[in-house]
Amino acid sequence: MRPFDKCPVCGGELVEKEVEKLLKGGVNTAVLKVAAEVCLQCG
Ligand SMILES: [Zn+2]
Repeated sequence: MRPFDKCPVCGGELVEKEVEKLLKGGVNTAVLKVAAEVCLQCG
């Protein structure tokens, strides 16, 4: 696990969020789960 860093923009806290991305290709739909670090203050 990675320790949380401070946001370089505003110095706010960064949280790890799981973002779901839908990939549509014809009849097939794939759900991609991506972990992204999001700042609590500025996003
Ligand atoms: Zn920020």
